[in-house]
Amino acid sequence: LNSRVRVFFSARHYAELHRHLFPGDRGEHGAVVMAGLAQIGSETRLLVRDVVLAQDGRDYVINEEGYHSLKATFIGHLIRTCRDKRMVYLAVHNHGSDRNVSFSQIDLRSHERGYPALRDIADGMPVGALVLGRRSIEMDLWMPDGSRRNLTEAVVIGQSICHLFPEPQASLKSTNETYGRQLLMFGAAGQHILSQATVAVIGLGGIGSLVAEFLGRLGVGKLILVDPDRVEQTNLSRLVGATMQDAEAGTLKVEVAKRHIREASRTAQIVALASDATAPDVVETLKAVDFIFLAADTMRARLMVNGLVQQYFIPAVQLGAKVTAKSGGGTLDDAMSVARSLRPGDGCLLCSGCIDSTTLATEFLSDDERRAADYGTLVPNPSVISLNAVAAAHAVNDFLFDFLNLRNRPATRFLHMSHIHERNWIVTPAHSATCSECSATRSDSRFARGDAVQVVAMKSFATSRPRTA
Ligand SMILES: [Zn+2]
Ligand SMILES: [Zn+2]
Repeated sequence: LNSRVRVFFSARHYAELHRHLFPGDRGEHGAVVMAGLAQIGSETRLLVRDVVLAQDGRDYVINEEGYHSLKATFIGHLIRTCRDKRMVYLAVHNHGSDRNVSFSQIDLRSHERGYPALRDIADGMPVGALVLGRRSIEMDLWMPDGSRRNLTEAVVIGQSICHLFPEPQASLKSTNETYGRQLLMFGAAGQHILSQATVAVIGLGGIGSLVAEFLGRLGVGKLILVDPDRVEQTNLSRLVGATMQDAEAGTLKVEVAKRHIREASRTAQIVALASDATAPDVVETLKAVDFIFLAADTMRARLMVNGLVQQYFIPAVQLGAKVTAKSGGGTLDDAMSVARSLRPGDGCLLCSGCIDSTTLATEFLSDDERRAADYGTLVPNPSVISLNAVAAAHAVNDFLFDFLNLRNRPATRFLHMSHIHERNWIVTPAHSATCSECSATRSDSRFARGDAVQVVAMKSFATSRPRTA
């Protein structure tokens, strides 16, 4: 498990590459992938930012020895772009195989001839090659220190998340009898995947406490719980696991959740972080998780998680419940539950207008400053356990079906549920080519950049936008 090498694709990029390599002609085709680089603990992670398709006969040609290769003129500016943007250059071609793929001796000899020079040009960045079978993938990565690395797995992230390997994996099965009934739905192999997963829950209030309970009982192996708040009397109407004694003692919400999950599971590893989600050490922890549930209702947390999804390819969901009254009070305008899936390169919360810059700016003010500015943010919002439960259940359901790849949905979607109007909407997130976060074409966007750029800088972001209040 340690020192693994993984390459991450957005579903859109993988589909584009796959269509080009396997057009149905059984031939060999070529491309170049440019990827961001992240070192996460001992794992080397490559994040595909760009797929450049080589045109047969012009960019991808038969060389003097009779083998296919990419033209030097095609490679030249791409390797220099990678050097300048601190990305990893990967030459790509396909073999006709299905679930197994490996480089041929001819492939490896051509790497040994060509890659020392490419690595010199790359100036401290790795370079390498990918070879794809129809449902398999392998890599030969040349590290700056002179070592060569193979691929542990590729992860393709759409709404569903799927994994590809150089060869079929022995299917590991969980036999823990606690999970006998749910195994009937997602199988012993699915249960094993859950037992190996690290999942973060940000915000352990009304919604997050339910999410944490669901994940704990489902058998998720490791839970990272993040919330700085303590239990108050008014939380008892909806905080799962909290007692009157907790309200009197002011127990940390993360400790309540940890205790509650522990009562149902001896095996779960639970990390309770009583900090703001945007604290630097928390952000470091979040880079290493497999999935994030965002149940904290600050714009600051939304901006940070939205950025991590795009920069490090960590799938997430933002969930919430909201009650709005008609002006004048009394009657309800609406009561909504939402579960918005967040995936790299397929729209985001910022594009979709879900990060309000005025609110974001006020979150950096002190309480006194906020009162003086009378932003109205100190008025408590309505919160009801059953509305919270709808959002939590839908988000955890989506997590199960998508994370275990039990349905094939490449496109990201938001789920909006109105309880007053008794309607559900499946909304496609907005995607702007000029988005600073999710655009794959804007040259300075965060998308797939990994360690090459800073994680979202809260204060500068808030102040760089016009304040309309
Ligand atoms: Zn080959
Ligand atoms: Zn965006």
